[in-house]
Amino acid sequence: MRRLLLLLLASLVAAGAAQAAEVLQLQGTLDGKDHQRYLELPFQVPAGTGRVGVQLRQDGAKDRTVIDLGLLDADGFRGWSGGSRSAISVSRYDATGGYLPGAVPRGEWKVLLGVPNIRAGVRTPYHVEVTLWSEAEVQAGKDRTDLVLRAAPGWYRGDLHMHSTHSDGSCSSQQGRKVSCPLFLSLQAAVRQRLDFVAVTEHNTVSHLQELVRHQPWFDRLLLIPGMEVTTFQGHANVFGINGPLPFRLGDTLPDWNALLRQLAGSDAVFSINHPALPSGEDCMGCGWTPARAVDMDRVNAVEVVNASQADGPRAGVGFWEQQLQQGHRMTAVGGSDSHNPDDVDGASPVGVPATLVHAEALSRDAILAAIKRGRVVVDVHNIAGSRLDLWLESDDGRRADMGEALALEDGQAAILRAELDYPTPVRMEFVVDGRRELAALEPGDDGSQQARLRWRSDGKRHWLRVDVRAMDGSLAMLGNPVYVNW
Ligand SMILES: [Zn+2]
Ligand SMILES: [Zn+2]
Repeated sequence: MRRLLLLLLASLVAAGAAQAAEVLQLQGTLDGKDHQRYLELPFQVPAGTGRVGVQLRQDGAKDRTVIDLGLLDADGFRGWSGGSRSAISVSRYDATGGYLPGAVPRGEWKVLLGVPNIRAGVRTPYHVEVTLWSEAEVQAGKDRTDLVLRAAPGWYRGDLHMHSTHSDGSCSSQQGRKVSCPLFLSLQAAVRQRLDFVAVTEHNTVSHLQELVRHQPWFDRLLLIPGMEVTTFQGHANVFGINGPLPFRLGDTLPDWNALLRQLAGSDAVFSINHPALPSGEDCMGCGWTPARAVDMDRVNAVEVVNASQADGPRAGVGFWEQQLQQGHRMTAVGGSDSHNPDDVDGASPVGVPATLVHAEALSRDAILAAIKRGRVVVDVHNIAGSRLDLWLESDDGRRADMGEALALEDGQAAILRAELDYPTPVRMEFVVDGRRELAALEPGDDGSQQARLRWRSDGKRHWLRVDVRAMDGSLAMLGNPVYVNW
């Protein structure tokens, strides 16, 4: 048996990345004597490693050579995928099917190769690439590539708030008992609601990241965004786009909300205050937004203005959000079902109700999160199929700002605020300018939509202009984010 084992250590510098993943190349050649043997290819994993990736390449298929793949960590068995996979990875939070997530111990690891078949007289070179990402790189998401489910720009519909067995979600078992509810059922409920994306936001944990990684290939029309509902005694906030756990022990290991907001600054993650107007008390401890210390609201990306069925009245978050806008803090209004039971289709918080409509460059995690920050976003209170609301401001000198964008308009400059709506039942539209509401006259557009316009003149100061859609009984049906002036 002649085996050439080359160990090459190369550092790949990813563009713009401060730290670089380490890449090890393990290569050799199998021959007939390796038939039905196992080979161990050792490599060193340094302290502080967050993810180990293994990729096997060989082109012996034409000679009927088969190479199985497995992995041993410094403590022993880590996983086995036989001949079914050529690329696998393990980290503290997730692992490819057949492999165990968990701590990444330093020391000698081994890629395990099994050789069910190699013919006598055949020589098959193999090439194993091992990639080591540091824990810091994993936390920063540098170990992942953005999965694009749809490449086209457009409106995408999702639910940004739900719970499963990984926190306090429950549903009926086969025998009708109330049990902790498998996450898969919530994702299937999202499919039934025709959603394009969901954020799974468990309370103060990340044990669901593993399942999201495993489920995503099957849900190839539903983008799964990992989130965490940072649940404190002084309020709840969803963080969308996490790569690991976040601190939540406010008043203990986390001095105040600002420390978390500083930690997230510069990352792709979105920080959204949840159900700010719910009362806090023995029925729901810490549910309202009651920070003990002033929060830097300019670092807050979003507010959940509609939580479950709370779209109108004192428990809706609209008033809190508009107050922030009035005080000069620009943040995107979103909605979330806060579903705790995927079977609960007629109850107070079914999955997908409300839906958040996001105009994004693509259906991918990076694109959806960036689009939420930009703010061309609408909350569809009842998640009505085919509904659409859009708004833009056109200045008399031909400039245009879409929802979420800003336009500079000097004192005396005039502009037209235009809204466009698709909605299947009779509704009315209401323009909201700096919090003042004004009924809009609806007229049919050429494309079957309903349109409204408002002539508006600037005084050179800062303003926000947006639009709401209300049912004929006055209840909120759709909520639009603002166009900003002079911000
Ligand atoms: Zn909550
Ligand atoms: Zn929740």
